[in-house]
Amino acid sequence: MHHFFVSSENIDETAGLAVIDDSVDYNHAVNVLRLKAGEQILISDSDGCDYLCAVRQAAPDKRLELDIIEKAGENHELPARVILFQCVPKSDKMELIIQKAVELGVTDIVPVFSKYCVVKLDDKKAESRIKRWQAISESAAKQSKRSVIPKIHKPVDFKQAAEMCEQCDVRIIPYEAEDGLTGICEAIVNFLPGRSIGVIVGPEGGFAPMEVTMAKRHAIVPVSLGKRILRAETAAIAILSLIMIRLEIAAGIDLSTEE
Ligand code: SAM
Repeated sequence: MHHFFVSSENIDETAGLAVIDDSVDYNHAVNVLRLKAGEQILISDSDGCDYLCAVRQAAPDKRLELDIIEKAGENHELPARVILFQCVPKSDKMELIIQKAVELGVTDIVPVFSKYCVVKLDDKKAESRIKRWQAISESAAKQSKRSVIPKIHKPVDFKQAAEMCEQCDVRIIPYEAEDGLTGICEAIVNFLPGRSIGVIVGPEGGFAPMEVTMAKRHAIVPVSLGKRILRAETAAIAILSLIMIRLEIAAGIDLSTEE
């Protein structure tokens, strides 16, 4: 079933009406998919609610009007805000990280240019890269039946990332030179519903020691992900998987399947 995302303002439950008025989505629905009156589609609003809808009509002012058939009860979002501050790795690894992070429930991705990042983007390149990354986020959100599309933020430097991460309730930096599992064990206890969780993952070259010192100054806790050195993309997937499962269990979502 085709899946579109709209702002909550585009939903009028009383009138039983939903509207697609984003020009790209409108064009895709009307001119590419050629959706017909009565055809059913899934709509997610920006509050994380899903609605089963049927096409009513393509109104003249480029608004596709939809009848709300039913509000889907189940929300496909994690019960916490999860922000990945990803130091930009080489080539298309960032695209893989974005796709997997979206499947694993992240709400925001902030690209970071840290000291050992090899990739350098000028403003023009950064703009087109963000557009591409946002499209990957949207496609992964649709595939994984997310109720919201995670936002890809403008790139920041490490200091800005640390300042942003400091605003989160739980703040960790998986650090390849960190010893022992105390940090990660303590962090896991705090991956709780209703919290915001910020994670800074390094690039292929890892973190400069002064970056880890800066992170600590912003109350961001270095944690080990075990004895092996993981690739940047593996580390992002590993820590986000840990957060996701912990949150799902803490929210009491029954992950066991009764035989
Ligand atoms: N250049 C570093 C080295 O050789 O030691 C490796 C960096 S690793 C490829 C990229 C990022 O993944 C790290 O900066 C860190 O954020 C994360 N990472 C990889 N392995 C980790 C581990 N065992 N514990 C914590 N973080 C890890």
